[in-house]
Amino acid sequence: MARLRQIAQLGHNVLRQIAEPVLDFNDEQVISVIEDMQMTLSESNGVGIAAPQIYESYQIVIIASRPTPRYPDAPLMAPTLMINPEFQELSDNREKDWEGCLSIPGIRALVPRYSQIKVNYSDRLEQPQELKLSGFVARIFQHEYDHLLGKVYLDRVENNQDIISEQEFQKLIARS
Ligand code: ZN
Repeated sequence: MARLRQIAQLGHNVLRQIAEPVLDFNDEQVISVIEDMQMTLSESNGVGIAAPQIYESYQIVIIASRPTPRYPDAPLMAPTLMINPEFQELSDNREKDWEGCLSIPGIRALVPRYSQIKVNYSDRLEQPQELKLSGFVARIFQHEYDHLLGKVYLDRVENNQDIISEQEFQKLIARS
């Protein structure tokens, strides 16, 4: 049975480790991590989650762009589970936009990300998949992928002045 998990917060070592690839897709532990990630994400206002965020150092992410109170302008897509993902940029073009993270509450920052990428991953049945992502969804992927490298979005910020409080961010989007 899936369990709602606590979200690891910045400062916990699990967010700074390189996650392990999934080798056995039928492993009970791996299956329960996936189910718990799905439940924990759906109960949050997040648009993506990486396994290290529930204290599980596996290369598993879920990308689930949808409008939420945290991201009112996010495009709607079916939640996509990606195991052992990799990506390539399709152009050098990077754009700065706002990000936040369930593991770093109260903060937002402008983060440069590739605007068009190609993602390769395995699905739950161990089938190889390829997806081209652009814009906000490409951003979510790159944010979650960073969690597998032991990085958080604040590591990508170019200027400390690009970091603001959640409260100021909410005022900003209410004006736009
Ligand atoms: Zn995050």
